[in-house]
Amino acid sequence: MRLCEKCTLCCIVSEIPELEKSAYLKCKHVCESPIGSCSVHSTEIQPERCKSFDCLWRQGYGEDESRPDKIGILPFVSNFNGGYWIFIVETIKDAVITLAKDFLINTAKVSNIPLIVSDYRTSFINDDKGDRVIIKNSLLHKSKQLHNGLLTMLSDDIGLYKLRIN
Ligand code: SF4
Ligand code: SF4
Repeated sequence: MRLCEKCTLCCIVSEIPELEKSAYLKCKHVCESPIGSCSVHSTEIQPERCKSFDCLWRQGYGEDESRPDKIGILPFVSNFNGGYWIFIVETIKDAVITLAKDFLINTAKVSNIPLIVSDYRTSFINDDKGDRVIIKNSLLHKSKQLHNGLLTMLSDDIGLYKLRIN
């Protein structure tokens, strides 16, 4: 497992109800210390959801240099609608097609589920179910409604699609 070091992205982007922390507001327990960035790490004050959260980069996805705060995305797995999905929250505008592109290509290549992307924004919106999808060609047959929504190909076999197609 990688070390977060100076990254505090999930402590800003995530909603933490136990701490009455809204999404996109920095947690009051964020600190700067040589051993980490949470002043209540592993104490009773730290919510269980924080203790159990590891973004995909921390789990070993992508290159060492692709730490989430550096490439402008928060990548994580979450349970939704009865299944597990990979969610990507864009924290720098257009990061999905620029800074984070290589990370996303590599992640999509080894994933058997699509990556749901929430576009860059600076505040929480209710009912955020994502705006775009990254999916490899070999999984497209499972998501036929995406076919007409191709925005761009990130690589030869991985495309970026509109999620909601009217
Ligand atoms: S986004 Fe990942 S690397 Fe950054 S603080 Fe959260 S778990 Fe650590
Ligand atoms: S309690 Fe610690 S790990 Fe949880 S959001 Fe706050 S700073 Fe981050």
